[in-house]
Amino acid sequence: MGFKKRIINNKIDFPEIEKPELIDSPSRLLLFAKNQGITCVPLDLNSLCKKLNINIVYQSLFQLPEIQRSEIQRSEIQRSDKNNISGILFRNFDGSWTISVNENHHINRQRFTIAHELGHYFLHRHEGSVFTDEIFFRSMYFGNEKKQKMEWQANEFAATILMPRQEIVKLISNGIVDIESLARTFQVSTLAMRFQLERTQLLNDNKVNYVYSDIKN
Ligand SMILES: [Zn+2]
Repeated sequence: MGFKKRIINNKIDFPEIEKPELIDSPSRLLLFAKNQGITCVPLDLNSLCKKLNINIVYQSLFQLPEIQRSEIQRSEIQRSDKNNISGILFRNFDGSWTISVNENHHINRQRFTIAHELGHYFLHRHEGSVFTDEIFFRSMYFGNEKKQKMEWQANEFAATILMPRQEIVKLISNGIVDIESLARTFQVSTLAMRFQLERTQLLNDNKVNYVYSDIKN
């Protein structure tokens, strides 16, 4: 691994930054996406996964013909309420990874699912070979401490790549100050948008549907 610096758009970039295996944070993934010419607002998850060599499969998760590939996966799935499964990230026998998404869910939810599974992929793939997800905000409060922490991390990862704070600030400074318009721009649910505005301290509590338009930063 060399330490040669590269200059991109007059900015000095970190060495080897575009290597997918070195990505360990949302900002690094977004930089990778930008360097690959992938649209980031809204984030083009299909192109991104293609570049990362991660397979996305949209399917009804009730039958699960393709993902019943091992005993571990089968038992994971049996434990879950199949109706509530949003997505599953799993390693294939050849070492590649697949994100299976519930095709019956709304597209915004599917996008959050994919982003969440990318969080597991980049942060936790060395700790397991299958990650099954039901309702994200619920799963943060159930299960053992380690599992809860991983769910928090995957949710934060997802929110950050789908709705980067600096992009929200940019939109707000361009006059887009209501949650619905912001959510539409990022192709997320208004609930996810609201969570992210709260998390990034951009929500004006006095006017629920509006966010501060005088943000400096
Ligand atoms: Zn998860």
